[in-house]
Amino acid sequence: MNSKKAGITSETGYIVKSLEYVDDKVKGGLISGKKEREDEFDLVLLAVGRRANVEGLALENAGVQLENGHIKVNEHMQTTAENIYAAGDVADGWMLAHTAYDEAMCAAKKISSTATIKCLRGQQCREWYSLILRWGGQ
Ligand SMILES: Cc1cc2nc3c(=O)[nH]c(=O)nc-3n(C[C@H](O)[C@H](O)[C@H](O)COP(=O)(O)OP(=O)(O)OC[C@H]3O[C@@H](n4cnc5c(N)ncnc54)[C@H](O)[C@@H]3O)c2cc1C
Repeated sequence: MNSKKAGITSETGYIVKSLEYVDDKVKGGLISGKKEREDEFDLVLLAVGRRANVEGLALENAGVQLENGHIKVNEHMQTTAENIYAAGDVADGWMLAHTAYDEAMCAAKKISSTATIKCLRGQQCREWYSLILRWGGQ
């Protein structure tokens, strides 16, 4: 279904001051800069950011470098410390369950084999989610 045709509008750039459930609707208090407004919504979709949980691991002592808050890895999920691998949300890339699984499998194969295995880094998931995003954004 096309979101615009379905009457779905997106409001961005607001701070949500309050949300109240009244008579099957959600009343929201919104702030944009110095302006405040109240509006009524059928549904509220809440999305919050996520970041890699790398604090307190003393990675720098092990020679593991970070890049944009994530552990820097090569195509084999190998960190900047040769014998340390990282996979999933801590590594840079898509923070998705399928990607984490795929990367962990790839790292394990590389560790247990001398063969050169290039990780797909969740390429299949990327294509799948791109399709969903394209479908939703039409
Ligand atoms: C609300 C929410 C909804 C999501 N929905 C989807 C979805 O629909 N589809 C999708 O593909 N992905 C989804 N994700 C993302 C998905 O859950 C993650 O990408 C995936 O779980 C990453 O796997 P991981 O193994 O890297 O990390 P995790 O699953 O977070 O596993 C890390 C583990 O390490 C443990 N740990 C942390 N620090 C330490 C430490 N110092 N010592 C020992 N253990 C430690 C933690 O307790 C945890 O068990 C969602 C995430 C959230 C938060």
